[in-house]
Amino acid sequence: MPVLPSACPLDCPDHCSLDVTVEAGKVVRVEDRAANPVTDGFICGKVRRIARHLYGEDRLRYPGIRTGKKGEGRFRRVSWDEALDHVAAKFSAIRARSGGLAILPYYYGGSNGALTQDSTDARLFAYPDYEEAAMIIVWGQNPSASSIHLVPIIRRALDKGARLVVVDPRRTPLAKLAHRHLAVRPGGDLVLALAMARWLFVNGRADEAFLAEHATGVGQFRERAMPWTPEAAAAVTGISAADIEATAAEYAEASPAVIRCGWGLERNRNGGSAVASVIALPAVAGKFGLRGGGYTLSNSAAWKLSPSVDDAEQGGRVINMNNLGE
Ligand code: SF4
Repeated sequence: MPVLPSACPLDCPDHCSLDVTVEAGKVVRVEDRAANPVTDGFICGKVRRIARHLYGEDRLRYPGIRTGKKGEGRFRRVSWDEALDHVAAKFSAIRARSGGLAILPYYYGGSNGALTQDSTDARLFAYPDYEEAAMIIVWGQNPSASSIHLVPIIRRALDKGARLVVVDPRRTPLAKLAHRHLAVRPGGDLVLALAMARWLFVNGRADEAFLAEHATGVGQFRERAMPWTPEAAAAVTGISAADIEATAAEYAEASPAVIRCGWGLERNRNGGSAVASVIALPAVAGKFGLRGGGYTLSNSAAWKLSPSVDDAEQGGRVINMNNLGE
């Protein structure tokens, strides 16, 4: 049976290489492919069994046009030609009536914005770089479930002496391994990040030269951070003032230090601001410029270095994805 080289198509940070065994035109087995050092001999169970999804009874295989109300689940099966004509006619009518901006080309990718997802982070940081870090902060992510190849790399970094801090309301497997687990109350990440930024500013640990040369909006960020004394932040986050101060001090001292910012914090109130504040910390503390330092989100785009912040399309409107379909 032919075994074809492939890559995982799922929206996962690890971007595994796969060996796909095909029989009579059908996928019969999916295994890890040795060529990719990050895949490193294992893949997750959901992709190992992906043939069940490919050929599953419930899979959508044909286009359908809704015949009932939304949510009723009533559709009329149509040909692809009819479906595409239907969509094109709707697009044309909407555009003629309200202009092109009335059509939202929605694709999922989180609400992190162009700066954080698969752009700057993917350009500047790849999995092997974690092993160079003296301090790793995993903030709002559970790699043991959603980025499994990062776990052995973090373990190797720990073996080399790295400090590990996990910020997560839950006691995740990595939180159990961490030197410090900050069990932030859900929704408290923004305040925690601002409190750490404040500590850096007021204790003379902000890299003012770096900020002056490379950052914008520093004055406003500092202003927002100032009310969040460790005590004020403790009341909101559920983390003691002493732990907040100790974490900020350790972070200021460690070099290289990296923040792995996950998706947990953005799924909450102030989520966008929380992510923006967390990934501002390496700029405030001057953690860029060293291998193993800075921040990273997903690494799935680390393999193709073509997209850039400069390429991001400008303009358009802001739409809350929670309101889609209303
Ligand atoms: S770990 Fe992620 S990239 Fe690897 S096979 Fe599973 S979903 Fe795909």
